[in-house]
Amino acid sequence: MSTEKLAYNWNFDDQGTGPAINPMENAPAASASVQQVLADAAGPAPAPPTPSPTLSLLPVGIEIDGKTVRDAEIRELTGADEEAIDRVHRNSLKFFDKLLQLGVVSLGDAAPSAAQLKQLYVGDRDSLMLDIRIATFGSELEMVGVRCPGCQDLVDFTVDLASIERRGMPEGPTTVELRDGRIATVRFPTGEDQEHILAEADATTGQTNTRLLERCLVHIDLPSAGIRVAGNADTARKLGIADRRKILMYLADNAPGPQAMDLTVEHDGCGAEVPLPLTVADIFLDL
Ligand SMILES: [Zn+2]
Repeated sequence: MSTEKLAYNWNFDDQGTGPAINPMENAPAASASVQQVLADAAGPAPAPPTPSPTLSLLPVGIEIDGKTVRDAEIRELTGADEEAIDRVHRNSLKFFDKLLQLGVVSLGDAAPSAAQLKQLYVGDRDSLMLDIRIATFGSELEMVGVRCPGCQDLVDFTVDLASIERRGMPEGPTTVELRDGRIATVRFPTGEDQEHILAEADATTGQTNTRLLERCLVHIDLPSAGIRVAGNADTARKLGIADRRKILMYLADNAPGPQAMDLTVEHDGCGAEVPLPLTVADIFLDL
């Protein structure tokens, strides 16, 4: 599986939005900048392996025994963890499943099962991974040689990962208005959905979009006719491209979890805002 697929940055819109490096379109550039970032980030060795758990608040939460649980505990990864992770292929969803299994100490009052970790929303999984990363290597991330869009200089930046906004669920119903007055009810993907969506290594963008819609499109209503169609692969394929894109953009723009793709810093030299889009996957690729 390729890195850019795993990074899965939600940017389905082929129009692109700015000068940011999009890992899906510009893999070599993204990979080079990420490698540079990680070469610096991995700097000092972690403290001796006696990690104590740190509280990590889930942006959304998971239902356990009828209650929404948002309290989780994570811990710093140790040498033993590193050995365990070494047995799993890098850049695979399994790698991140393993990271969570090792680094998440508790969900609510108990240790999480592997199944519960997969049932978490992607945004909650990303938030936990971000906290495990911070507990293991600290919250500073060095980004070296970033091209400033204002003055074109190559600039080094230090990003504080702890400052990344973590968003909860959007207010109100998660619906998208389609053409002809139809209303799509959607839900945000979980770890299980992510596994399904990324299962085919060689899938095209269109196929990946269909796999996502197959899981995350709950149903489509035509209120004027009282008709409801269930979401599935067939429904996803029959949707018009514009409607598909509208749903995907809604899911991208409103996704809960760390908003690392929106990261920007100001270049002191010229005052320009410099976009530094990161996926949570990026910050672990060199582990
Ligand atoms: Zn500048």
